[in-house]
Amino acid sequence: MEEGSRKSSDGLYRVLEFYSGIGGMRYSIMRAGMSATMVEAFDINDKANDVYEHNFGHRPYQGNIQNLTAADLDRYEADVWLLCPPCQPYTRQGLQKDSGDARASSFLRILELMQHMLQPPLMFFVENVVGFEISDTHKQMIEILVKTGFVAQEFILNPLQFGVPYSRPRYFCLAKRKPLSFQNPRFNNQLLWSPTPILGSDDGLMDENVVQSCEPIENFLEVEPSSNQSESADLDLFHTSRVPGMVCTTLETKVEENGCGTGSLSQYIVPLGLIERWGSAMDIVYPDSKRCCCFTKSYYRYVKGTGSLLATVQPKKKGKFTPLKDQGLRYFTPREVANLHSFPEIFQFPQHIGLKQRYALLGNSLSVAVVAPLLRYLFVEPL
Ligand code: SAH
Repeated sequence: MEEGSRKSSDGLYRVLEFYSGIGGMRYSIMRAGMSATMVEAFDINDKANDVYEHNFGHRPYQGNIQNLTAADLDRYEADVWLLCPPCQPYTRQGLQKDSGDARASSFLRILELMQHMLQPPLMFFVENVVGFEISDTHKQMIEILVKTGFVAQEFILNPLQFGVPYSRPRYFCLAKRKPLSFQNPRFNNQLLWSPTPILGSDDGLMDENVVQSCEPIENFLEVEPSSNQSESADLDLFHTSRVPGMVCTTLETKVEENGCGTGSLSQYIVPLGLIERWGSAMDIVYPDSKRCCCFTKSYYRYVKGTGSLLATVQPKKKGKFTPLKDQGLRYFTPREVANLHSFPEIFQFPQHIGLKQRYALLGNSLSVAVVAPLLRYLFVEPL
């Protein structure tokens, strides 16, 4: 095989998805409109694999990535590696043990193995939290990429920069093995905070206008609160209405369809006790807001710093301030979190995955609106 040529006979890139979770990377490949052969996905979490299998009809390999060998990896003859290694070693909330954290070791191990492969991949893509770029693991990753003949471009990007009213800044490493090269080689070995190089200069939103140019949150809601909200807001919360660009049924129907099991609407209403205790620490957004906070895997279990809550009653009516407890506060539903992650409508959870698990799996996932254009940029070869 020639250096830099594709491995499959049909000319499609052969892709491996490491730490596949519920398939955010695979949806990004689909959204990017790239024809690729998804050769294998790897994840140790059986619930994540249930969701992946339910949607893609293929169950990821459920072993520990740590135990793969260079020969195993060579056997897949993959052109592209997509990786979302666990982020806890690098998060602010975590203990920041970095490469000393056991959860970093499987990633370091396969990076190590890449050097011993007969045919390392041609392209490499990593997603992680902000903070990864200053870690030891990052340093080791870049050293190995350079030794193995890769050139890298790095980004920290946010869905807000792509018109989605959702703040979830993340680190991305894109790397191509020589003689392959990037469309914009002048960004080699740089860390960029702007999507301009990947979108082309005119498409990129200027950073200062970013939030203003986002769609309102209501476009991402399953259902809109009733337009004549009254004091009995929590009864009005789930009335059916048309949301532009989305198929709306009543939430009741949705809950049944998605198999939450309980069929109860009350599970999304924020209990009064929580509002009284934590109200001042809550991030509250409205249907016309142009941004909300990152949903983490602890959304719905903890209130502080885990994601925004939706107020369905405007805070001020006829000049009168509406107290927080009367603002009809509710959690975003899992479907709405999936919408803010730009997952397609066909994405579904199997019935047996409980509500907390759904939030946990979504919280670990990624923004398809950000990853899809990055992958397109990675795959394209300069003319
Ligand atoms: N991007 C994914 C989620 C990545 S979160 C998505 O779109 O859903 C990290 C994932 O890595 C988790 O699902 C976790 O189960 C998996 N994981 C962590 N350590 C692993 C290991 N050693 N072997 C296999 N999978 C692992």
